Amino acid sequence: MFEHIERVPGDAILGLIEAFKKDTNPQKVDLGVGVYRDAEGNTPVMRAVKEAEARLLKNETTKTYIGSHGAPAYGEVVLPMVLGENSPVLDANRASATQSPGGTGALRLAADFIATQLPDKGIWVSDPTWPNHHGIFTAAGIALHKYPYVDADNRLDFDGMLAALKQIPEGDVVVLHACCHNPTGFDLSKEQWHTVLEVVRERHLLPLIDFAYQGFGEGLDEDAYGVRLMAEELDEVIITSSCSKNFGIYCERTGCLIMVAKNSEQMENIRSQIAIAARENYSNPPAHGGAIVSDILHDDELTAVWHEELTEMRDRINTLRRDFVEALKPYGLDDKYACVAEQRGMFSYTGLTPEQVDRLRDEFGIYMVRSGRANVAGFSHENLPYLAKAIATVNG
Ligand code: PMP
Repeated sequence: MFEHIERVPGDAILGLIEAFKKDTNPQKVDLGVGVYRDAEGNTPVMRAVKEAEARLLKNETTKTYIGSHGAPAYGEVVLPMVLGENSPVLDANRASATQSPGGTGALRLAADFIATQLPDKGIWVSDPTWPNHHGIFTAAGIALHKYPYVDADNRLDFDGMLAALKQIPEGDVVVLHACCHNPTGFDLSKEQWHTVLEVVRERHLLPLIDFAYQGFGEGLDEDAYGVRLMAEELDEVIITSSCSKNFGIYCERTGCLIMVAKNSEQMENIRSQIAIAARENYSNPPAHGGAIVSDILHDDELTAVWHEELTEMRDRINTLRRDFVEALKPYGLDDKYACVAEQRGMFSYTGLTPEQVDRLRDEFGIYMVRSGRANVAGFSHENLPYLAKAIATVNG
């Protein structure tokens, strides 16, 4: 039965990691992988997380199932984190939270919900977007389409995006990145969010907002601007939230699907359908990550520690963005790469061409995805002069 099965190429990023490991260049730099790194190049466990885990170990009394929607205590803290402390959406009891195995799990639940409950609706993603969006929505059987997002000069193509959104058939789903757009780093301004809201309203589109980097851009509340605007202004919104990055608990698979409905009654109807999607995929979500997050956010002291650590990560990334552009100044390239300082989140569309990316790898041991996407957390004050010199060489 298995004889005819073909081997497919592995994930391009995993190949990059392998090649990086084998490279013997002592100055090599990894700008490929999608996790946060500190100044030493590590992805450590956050202090607030360690403390919450110590408490959990001591206080945990059972390992029984937590239910298809996950732990209520988790939903209780994620909803205000995402929608805001005094959200009118929460006051109206029209948002439902379902704990999920990461943001990816939330996206798959959303995809299954769309495929089964809103059949024949297409889904629109930015070009480019996180590659797994294509995989997840297609796997659920939804027709996938793209809207432009970046122009030929490596700038946010807001006009192109808007023109495309205006052509989307009524009722289709449009995927928006809440902040820290992956892979480009180009985010919408407040004004642009309002413009998108108007088009979404006019065309009766259903927004699905992917919120994987809350707190990595400008701040926990600032990054939620578009999410809260849409949820408060529209009757129906889907939000997929992730705690992988902002709590640094990538391997604990901790996310949340938030379904916003017109009223409490419709929210409960939808919620019952989401429970089925969860059950058919994996029954119950893993408990540990959600317990960490809810313990931290239910405790003022731990919350304060977490805020401090998150701020440190965000400030580090935003400082490195500015310092990168600064390091290119002596080569007269600061204007060309000024976008890196304006973008937000872990990733940057640098504007480096595939050929330049290849040269950076072969001649300098600098590794990034061929699209020119760099993980900014891979920059450091030690490697910035080397990076700048290498970039100047491939621009020469
Ligand atoms: N959406 C986007 C845009 C992402 O970049 C990621 C993570 N790379 C996810 C969702 C999924 O995150 P998680 O690891 O929580 O599944």
